[in-house]
Amino acid sequence: MADVTIDRVNKEFGAVKVLKNIELEIRDGEFLVLVGPSGCGKSTLLRMIAGLESVTAGNISIGGAKVNGVAPKDRDIAMVFQSYALYPHMNVRKNLSFALRIRKASEEEIEKRVKLASEILGLSELMDRLPKQLSGGQRQRVAMGRAIVRDPQVFLFDEPLSNLDAKLRIQMRKEIKELHQRLKTTSIYVTHDQIEALTMADRVVVMRDGVIEQAGPPLELYDRPANIFVAGFIGAPA
Ligand code: ADP
Ligand code: MG
Repeated sequence: MADVTIDRVNKEFGAVKVLKNIELEIRDGEFLVLVGPSGCGKSTLLRMIAGLESVTAGNISIGGAKVNGVAPKDRDIAMVFQSYALYPHMNVRKNLSFALRIRKASEEEIEKRVKLASEILGLSELMDRLPKQLSGGQRQRVAMGRAIVRDPQVFLFDEPLSNLDAKLRIQMRKEIKELHQRLKTTSIYVTHDQIEALTMADRVVVMRDGVIEQAGPPLELYDRPANIFVAGFIGAPA
């Protein structure tokens, strides 16, 4: 069963076509990485799945239901942002609970979910701190916690590690993968970093100029690139 289906999706900004007939199925529980050079359309595709951009033509389905026209807050997805997107004036507990509170969850439900997320991410001792009182890694965990508390069907990540230093980035890749192994939530992860794609993905989708050049497991792309662009992109030094 596909959890997210992208069916001949096109996106135009004015006269500029930025996505051209994208066809892609993301399977239930899969960790799919969307990789490609800056400007190729990765964020636009992710934002369309989230409902933050309209679809010019084609259909997007989540969990078998067509979502074209469904508001972002009514889609069963949660987006993981870079850690600097935390609310600076709210402590960790409030950062985690905010999305549930605006969706009018009960206090009991909020407490239960925030407790579970903070345990999973090792944040239990830090609940009263403000973001500026946390390390970079701790902040990134809070950013992930904000998505986890929603318990969505799909996680969407848009270059969540790009403002971290190299050492922390490697550690957080590992933590995100461990989290996925534990929760098994269908995940779509966008990056322009081919090493990140190859080390994290169950399946990699390589994009260029609004089209998919190749999709497959990391080893397949590495061993049998479909064309010279994929070979060059995957083989280029980081
Ligand atoms: P990526 O995430 O792969 O770097 P984007 O999806 O952000 O690429 O952008 C794809 C293309 O669409 C780029 O050429 C970008 O300039 C253009 N674009 C993105 N958002 C808009 C917008 N709101 N209006 C006009 N053009 C946009
Ligand atoms: Mg982008």
